[in-house]
Amino acid sequence: MSRTLSITGIAIHANNTSCAYHCRYCQLATSKPKSVSFTRHAALVERFIDWQAANAVEPFEVWPWYGNSYEHDLPTLAGILRLDQRLGREHKVLLLGGLRHRTRSEMHEFLEARCELGIDTLVATFSGHGERHDHWNNKADNYRFQIDSLHLAAEMGMELQQRILLMRNDLSGLESVLNDLDEIDSRRFTRWAIPMFYSGRARHLESERLTVDDFVGLSSRLRACLREDWPNWQSERQWMDQVCSGADEAQRTSLFFAVTEASLEWAERHSCEEILASLEARYRESASRLPSTRALAERYGDKNNERVYFNLRQMERLWMERHLQMHPANADRVSTLFA
Ligand code: SF4
Repeated sequence: MSRTLSITGIAIHANNTSCAYHCRYCQLATSKPKSVSFTRHAALVERFIDWQAANAVEPFEVWPWYGNSYEHDLPTLAGILRLDQRLGREHKVLLLGGLRHRTRSEMHEFLEARCELGIDTLVATFSGHGERHDHWNNKADNYRFQIDSLHLAAEMGMELQQRILLMRNDLSGLESVLNDLDEIDSRRFTRWAIPMFYSGRARHLESERLTVDDFVGLSSRLRACLREDWPNWQSERQWMDQVCSGADEAQRTSLFFAVTEASLEWAERHSCEEILASLEARYRESASRLPSTRALAERYGDKNNERVYFNLRQMERLWMERHLQMHPANADRVSTLFA
């Protein structure tokens, strides 16, 4: 059976801002920036916000992104916060991932200026302890930079969000990460751990994915850090059972509009309806030629795989990858639906 779609919105993504790292698990297809004017990007987003308010009958979400890091200048960050405010979303976080390293005083100045715009939470992701984290993030001294930045942010009264990426061969080092995080003098923090997503470069790191047994063997301290949706995480075998015994549902997806100078020029000459119609036609054409979720599970699922995927989307990407090995000509269609 072929795939059907339920369109839930539009993601408008510009990869303008450079990222200083080259993480070995980066989930982006590429972290290489493409220069795009923020003013023009924001104008397109604002057009869709106005269109949504005036026309959308079904729930329809607009998801702007101006990445790949928070290395924006202040006017750009102010513009990003303004767009999120118009969308009714509170945007208060700043991610350390991708920022170039700064001295403590430079970092103080950097954070202070961003707090004045409304940022109040600093987010750091750890994939191991010390040099193991630096290895995964492909950036020397990044572990130390992140820990020091969290200490500084806590002193400045910011909230902290501490994320941990569970790598199978680095689990033992995570106790030391937790020790370092516990030393930060802050009561205003959240902390959670997740297994790896299945996208971008992380697709080639399946040997680092935790199995059901690995989760059973986690220390109580690490177990307490698992993200709150962890009861829904399942092995491939369990996802197969769920998918094959349920109804074959339509894939819920946002249409993805990749912002480049060329695509912006095109968008500026078309109405929101025309942009949506063009994207939707491409998406539906691709979907009609690809197997449904259930067909993928039946054809490509591996009952012996006890590795854990945190949602069906991650699982399906792996099945789609196996499908592509058999049908490489479908690569364009897959990239439309599984960007
Ligand atoms: S910081 Fe983020 S965008 Fe940059 S390489 Fe790492 S995961 Fe990718």
